[in-house]
Amino acid sequence: MGNYRIAVLPGDGIGQEVTAGAVEVLKAVGVRFGHEFTFEYGWIGGAAIDEAGTPLPEETLRLCRESDAVLLGAVGGPKWDGNPPHLRPEKGLLAIRKQLDLYANLRPVVCYDCLASASPLKPDLVQGVDFVIVRELTGGIYFGQPSGRVVENGEEKAVDTLLYKKEEIERIVRMAFTLARGRKKKVTSVDKANVLSSSRLWREVAEEVAEQFPDVELEHMLVDNAAMQLIRAPKQFDVIVTENMFGDILSDEASMLSGSLGMLPSASLSASGPSLYEPVHGSAPDIAGMNKANPIAAILSAAMMLRLSFGLTAEAEAVEHAVRQALDQGLRTADLAPSGGRIVSTNEMVEEIKTAVLDYTAIAQIMTVYA
Ligand code: NAD
Repeated sequence: MGNYRIAVLPGDGIGQEVTAGAVEVLKAVGVRFGHEFTFEYGWIGGAAIDEAGTPLPEETLRLCRESDAVLLGAVGGPKWDGNPPHLRPEKGLLAIRKQLDLYANLRPVVCYDCLASASPLKPDLVQGVDFVIVRELTGGIYFGQPSGRVVENGEEKAVDTLLYKKEEIERIVRMAFTLARGRKKKVTSVDKANVLSSSRLWREVAEEVAEQFPDVELEHMLVDNAAMQLIRAPKQFDVIVTENMFGDILSDEASMLSGSLGMLPSASLSASGPSLYEPVHGSAPDIAGMNKANPIAAILSAAMMLRLSFGLTAEAEAVEHAVRQALDQGLRTADLAPSGGRIVSTNEMVEEIKTAVLDYTAIAQIMTVYA
């Protein structure tokens, strides 16, 4: 039975609601399996700007570094939209990724059978979708310098720089191949090699890494084609590896395959310290504070934490099983309404999943697998 120290950074908007739900579920895991989870809270994003005058206070960073893993909600909102660049909530997110060296962002995209009709795509197209997007998270155009606005000879300009070092590409591509080895053994490397130098280097490095994984198939795909293929035939994918901005955009697109952005968890793995777990979605200001948000992406992120940071596989399965059970029983937050079922609040969904975790038995899990 273990002791685990978790830094919780709820952030803004529905980040507050969904992380509270994930913490409740982790507490249930602690009770059910006899672990002790300690939750310590920190500010990030707009909440941190309001409290401490900066989107990522030093004490938040210290708390994260001293923890075994970090659970994050979401940042941002209209209140801070007019702030200068260094005082924007998103700066806190980019800074924590860089500071904790969270280079590998894993975003599993799974379509639960009972949610196939929640997707705007045809159910037979999305049923059985199961792939992972591996997004490079600490390089590329979000971090490259120079970046900013200038006025030169009276002309206003803005510049962003897409820069990748070979070693940054190598480590993320290796992560994708390692992951594919335990799955369907196929890696799709997405780039824009017909136009971008950084993509040509990306492609070369992917070829080099592939030589060390002869059992895994590598294909290259241009990002515009990948955007189309995700909608045309999403079941062709197993592991998609791509740079920071392409991964950001493609994973939001891919969320529609699972029915809602509120279903997509993510893990951001660190090269050196604690890893961070957060839902893919943002702070959803349009529904913040209404007890309407889907907490499942945050809860599944907590399950990824259990598996990847703590090695607690049975515990992670218990949470995933509980989520599946709640959905199979017809519970739906409003975002999943198109798939039918009974509309419930954030809190009701959390309660149901919590109860299922407390009641979890390995037999229940086996019954699901063989059902
Ligand atoms: P968003 O993900 O917050 O919302 C997009 C749409 O999806 C909204 O209609 C929202 O209601 C819905 N949605 C998102 N998550 C949901 C959930 N769990 N349950 C039900 N519905 C959900 O993206 P946005 O509207 O483009 O951005 C809002 C703010 O969030 C902005 O300030 C943006 O910068 C920020 N943002 C933060 C992150 C992050 O913290 N990782 C990611 C994306 C956007």
